[in-house]
Amino acid sequence: MSQPSQFAVFGHPIAHSLSPRIHQAFARQFGIALEYRTIDAAPEDFAAAVHGFFAAGGAGANVTLPHKGAAFALADERSEAATRAGSANVLTLLPDGRLAAHNTDGDGLVRDLTERHRADLRGHDALMLGAGGAARGVAWSLLDAGVQTLTIVNRTPETADALADAIGEPARVHTRYWDDLANLGSYDLIVNATSAGVLGGGLQLPLSLVGARALCYDLAYGNAAIGFLAWAKAAGARYAWDGLGMLVETAADAFALWHGRRPDTEPVYQALRTAD
Ligand code: NDP
Repeated sequence: MSQPSQFAVFGHPIAHSLSPRIHQAFARQFGIALEYRTIDAAPEDFAAAVHGFFAAGGAGANVTLPHKGAAFALADERSEAATRAGSANVLTLLPDGRLAAHNTDGDGLVRDLTERHRADLRGHDALMLGAGGAARGVAWSLLDAGVQTLTIVNRTPETADALADAIGEPARVHTRYWDDLANLGSYDLIVNATSAGVLGGGLQLPLSLVGARALCYDLAYGNAAIGFLAWAKAAGARYAWDGLGMLVETAADAFALWHGRRPDTEPVYQALRTAD
């Protein structure tokens, strides 16, 4: 009997990743046998660990913090979304043994917002907090989904400016200073793409940012999202959602790239939400 295909998620740290559970649940929907493990690689060991994994028969890999930029750099081919973001969260093996990099963060966020939560993003004035790897992954997708304007505010302003320059739509995309958040007025879509919740520091945000019918979304989930979601609700947001649905949607995109079949994400999302 042939061995099950081998998949893995690379990160540092990575022990608490939900990806093995998500991919096994997807695989069960199709009766696919696979092995999916976590591989903790320090940044200096990442490239060797990836090449070793694929040389030993690995069929596909997810990549998370802090390796998304390195995954993009080591790939031989890159999808348009990965190229725009300059980072990759999925690696696939090409028939000739080379590696292709993909970035599914933006598609995953927009699908979670528009299909799971039934949000219509068209015409929204959006504020994005953060300009790191995840922000670069989702910025273009928010614009493609029809947000009217996107204001990017990052603690380090140069990074926000670089992202706005890369997008190159000055009529729709603006940057502002973090110190000036209290003077920006209100937005009807606020996306927290900072890692403040994950790092444990939290954010001090003015309530005035939240418009009357605002939708607030934290890319983080679980305990890391509690502070931002509590702030959003206290400020009167109509909706306050975390990034668990985005995680499941991005995983479904990876699964489709590897297996050529798209899983039903809803039962997997609900099972994770119940266990939350
Ligand atoms: P990066 O390290 O690439 O970027 C971190 C960003 O957060 C930077 O903009 C950084 O600003 C900012 N930041 C960090 N701490 C603070 C702080 N105390 N105050 C203000 N800004 C801060 O991380 P990622 O972009 O990869 O990840 C960001 C978040 O998105 C994480 O919570 C991650 O878990 C989540 N994520 C969720 C996904 C999902 O599927 N749900 C997928 C991908 C990411 P500066 O430039 O000044 O350092």
